[in-house]
Amino acid sequence: MKKLVVITGASSGIGMDLAKSFSNEGHPVLMIARRKEIMENLNLPESISKSVDVVDYENMEKAIREAEEKYGKTDLLVNCAGVMLLGHPDTQSYEEWERMIDVNVKGILTGTKVVLKDMMERNEGTIINISSIAGRKTFDNHSVYCGSKFAVHAITESMRKEVSDKNVRIIVISPGVVETNLLSHTTDEEIKDNYNDWKKSIESGLDVKQITDCVMFAYKQPQSVCVREIVIAKTKQAD
Ligand code: NDP
Repeated sequence: MKKLVVITGASSGIGMDLAKSFSNEGHPVLMIARRKEIMENLNLPESISKSVDVVDYENMEKAIREAEEKYGKTDLLVNCAGVMLLGHPDTQSYEEWERMIDVNVKGILTGTKVVLKDMMERNEGTIINISSIAGRKTFDNHSVYCGSKFAVHAITESMRKEVSDKNVRIIVISPGVVETNLLSHTTDEEIKDNYNDWKKSIESGLDVKQITDCVMFAYKQPQSVCVREIVIAKTKQAD
């Protein structure tokens, strides 16, 4: 059997496509998100679905250790869970800011903490953080979302360097707009409408499959080769 792949945010969008694709390729998969039923209904062979909030370290550790007992140590962790709550700093609630920082930043640290030490001891393993083009440049109404994704870039780059001597790869993938439910959680209807109007200029977002291809490409390099970052967007997405 191939090695264990752990994917957060597997109940929707990019994470769900990653779970299906790694499963198709014969990997046992641990799927983590809060909505367990959706993941269970995928009926993926050799898979475990766990309803865990990525911010909850204790339950992240429990879920990953349970999967590792069954399938062996985690070879790939994809930190994909995230929320994008667009808003103007004047009007956006503190709760939305807090949620973005918690899920997008702390949420990549929990799983990392659980698997990293083992990976370093084994001199192999890969962690892929799904950031965003909003982790490289700023956009209107994105200030805290951008802040959270800039943090993902900084953490990835710094950790990548710090564990490189142990042959562990830490990678960041930064997509532009992708067709998923990500925008639906934004509560400001005017901002959502403006975003959808702007999106018409690029016709549509990327397909989730294009992000999966990037993850697969990076993961399938020999362990001695680290694709440090991939930035991908629709050709017509100028910003
Ligand atoms: P979706 O909204 O389709 O999926 C988000 C996933 O994150 C869901 O599975 C959701 O599961 C999970 N999630 C959210 N909060 C939590 C939490 N507290 N604990 C556990 N899981 C959680 O969006 P995408 O697939 O588009 O997003 C995936 C990643 O890609 C995000 O990090 C996003 O920032 C990034 N991205 C997306 C882009 C896009 O245009 N779509 C562009 C650039 C980056 P559940 O609700 O069941 O917990």
